[in-house]
Amino acid sequence: MKPIPFNKPFMTGRELAYMQDAVDSGKISGNGTYTRKCQHFFEETYGFRKCLLTTSCTDALEMCALLSGVGPGDEVIVPSYTFVSSALAFVRQGAKIVFADSCPDNPNIDVTKLEPLVSPKTRVLVVVHYAGVACDMDKVMEFAGRHGLLVVEDAAQAIDSRYKGRPLGGIGHLAAFSFHETKNVIAGEGGMLVVNDGRFVHRAEILWEKGTNRAEFFRGEVNKYGWVDTGSSFLPSELNAAFLWAQLECLDRIQDKRKLLWETYRDRLSTLEARGCFRMPDIPEYATNNAHMFYLVCRSIEERTALIARLKENGVLAVFHYLSLHSSPYYKDRHDGRALPCCDRFADCLVRLPMYYELLPEDVDRICSIIKEFFN
Ligand SMILES: *Cc1c(COP(=O)(O)O)cnc(C)c1O
Repeated sequence: MKPIPFNKPFMTGRELAYMQDAVDSGKISGNGTYTRKCQHFFEETYGFRKCLLTTSCTDALEMCALLSGVGPGDEVIVPSYTFVSSALAFVRQGAKIVFADSCPDNPNIDVTKLEPLVSPKTRVLVVVHYAGVACDMDKVMEFAGRHGLLVVEDAAQAIDSRYKGRPLGGIGHLAAFSFHETKNVIAGEGGMLVVNDGRFVHRAEILWEKGTNRAEFFRGEVNKYGWVDTGSSFLPSELNAAFLWAQLECLDRIQDKRKLLWETYRDRLSTLEARGCFRMPDIPEYATNNAHMFYLVCRSIEERTALIARLKENGVLAVFHYLSLHSSPYYKDRHDGRALPCCDRFADCLVRLPMYYELLPEDVDRICSIIKEFFN
């Protein structure tokens, strides 16, 4: 019985050749040819205003926090069902996090419940497109506009996905993508900041280059460069960018294969869902599916634990996902005590099934047979 891992990073075959090319070019630090190729790819393909590769999505979120200008005394609304980094970046700047609940039928932030969370101190709204499925962005932008909030899209999982035809990561004022090895397109570790609001373009470049105006200098726009602001070394080396470029060249192939696997799961498991055994991801009318993840929402934590154990006995690694951030050891004493029941339910009941390029439709059949036996 062949073990089936939860994830397996996919190599397209060109990664080493492009990394070798970067080495041969004699320039392997950041902001070189491959970095610019990758950034242009996103700007051209999706119409993002300005893209800057970063060493991780966490770094890109930290840049968002710096650009937002939040500090002690400010509040930031963040969904509780997300990865630590969505909140951490703003906590580091001294802001207070006001955690929001998920929708009843999917893990994205429930925009209809945000009104009571706003105070005169609220500055930023972070939304996460969970599993690459869009939040209801018209409602998000309308709400944020009404309260004068900056919108940051945590689009870590959302490459090549859309809301009413508009690419995710291109709607909020700022957005962050991840190329961590668990995402659809990878660079080992890697990420990208997207600046859609022109007010932030200039400062983003400076923060990216350790607080210097080096990028302008290399474009010949200023005749010397120096220390002009705060920042860090957010840019990745050309070796990572070369690796990422090989992946981006194969984006369509990667997406097609993942969507095929996703549809196979949905097809094989739909009768069990109809019987009420679990819920499968629901793709709203306004969203597309980028097949980042296939998950089930079980009826109870006990049933989920038993299902994960049954799959494991049969060599299949399925995993749960986020623990509610509002009750995490780091934040529980700072949380205002509101219950976030939908978030807690996804923390307890959601299980992710194996999903990676080299997974075969036969593997999906085998996984689904184990699940069927479990529920019968
Ligand atoms: C993966 C992920 C991150 C972190 O990405 P890194 O590139 O590992 O920093 C942040 N937010 C969400 C929603 C993610 O899925």
